[in-house]
Amino acid sequence: MLNLDFHPSGRHFLQIPGPSPVPDRILRAISLPTIDHRGPEFGVLGLELLAKLKQVFKTEGPVMVYPASGTGAWEAAFANALSPGDRVLMFETGHFATLWHKMALRLQLEPEFIGLPGYEGWRQGVRADMIEARLREDAGHRIKAVCVVHNETSTGVTSDIAAVRRAIDAAGHPALLLVDTISGLASADYRHDEWGVDVTISGSQKGLMLPPGISFNALSDKAISASRESTMPRSFWAWDEILEANRNGYWPYTPSTNLLYGLNEALDMLLDEGLEHVFARHQRWAAGVRTAVEAWGLEIQCQDPALYSPVLTGVVMPDGIDADAVRKIIYERFDLSLGMGLGKAKGKMFRIGHLGDCNDLTLVATLGGCEAGMKLCGVPLAGSGVAAALEYFAQHPLEAR
Ligand SMILES: *Cc1c(COP(=O)(O)O)cnc(C)c1O
Repeated sequence: MLNLDFHPSGRHFLQIPGPSPVPDRILRAISLPTIDHRGPEFGVLGLELLAKLKQVFKTEGPVMVYPASGTGAWEAAFANALSPGDRVLMFETGHFATLWHKMALRLQLEPEFIGLPGYEGWRQGVRADMIEARLREDAGHRIKAVCVVHNETSTGVTSDIAAVRRAIDAAGHPALLLVDTISGLASADYRHDEWGVDVTISGSQKGLMLPPGISFNALSDKAISASRESTMPRSFWAWDEILEANRNGYWPYTPSTNLLYGLNEALDMLLDEGLEHVFARHQRWAAGVRTAVEAWGLEIQCQDPALYSPVLTGVVMPDGIDADAVRKIIYERFDLSLGMGLGKAKGKMFRIGHLGDCNDLTLVATLGGCEAGMKLCGVPLAGSGVAAALEYFAQHPLEAR
């Protein structure tokens, strides 16, 4: 039976940075009857959505779709492109970079985890100069891949991937470039081909506005060649069988048929709106939310204004305030879910997601919940973030498409 305590009236405010709110249009598409995944209609759907996916990744190359969460697509990238014992250079931007590093260890890669010391690194982006310096030292080319997170969801810092590509090229190093844009794709500008990325990893439940459950690898030719040499055991994740089946719009095993209906709908929505407009909409929301944080007199987790995430904003609590206690009150009193501080950031900050099916007023309401909750917890606020954000949104209309 439905537990009414968990389903109060009105819509829940799901303002975590993924899963993000799913638009009704996508939910309706997902609700259509499941069809035969080997039948003729399915092949048509498969070909259509694989072609549209390329546009969102900005690639001419193939995009793998897995019935798995983003973590599965991380594993797929390692399992296909690398071999046990391969050295990989990873950069610590936050919790997700840390989890990916842990996976590299479990898969018997030899990851080198570099970054800025202590907690400060969790407030900055990837330092391309550090990557370049390390690659220059690696004269024997033992490092097989550089792995970076594009939009670090635990901190709200978006790194410059083009700069990482330039660093690898400047060092004259042949390492593959693997990029996690699980939370960046379809909210933040992303260009697989132009930035020379070899494997892009993404997921469904963030910028793509879908429920959790599917994830992606976009591949360069170099990545496909590397997979032919790779000796990592793999079966479910193997690119070759998927590439083969995808040629006719099918998968080697049962795909998530209904989520693919949703994906097709999401891709139509994004491409009809135009990706540049989608990115501008997220930038504007992020700016409005930051205006609120500034009006409260609080700190933003990201310390580099050039790297503010369009997807989420980390709000740092003053010393002595437990961010999780604030989140708990906000959830209980206002039916609003915010992202928690993860790993090193636990208890120090909370995260406001501004992606997916939002608009100015859902964000103003979200900021209202934050403001009221912080007051209840005794957080000293300099002024009203809600009023500041409303003013920002009123004064900065989104340009028409
Ligand atoms: C959400 C996320 C992941 C993990 O994806 P799951 O779908 O939870 O497995 C990894 N990296 C980043 C940057 C993420 O935002």
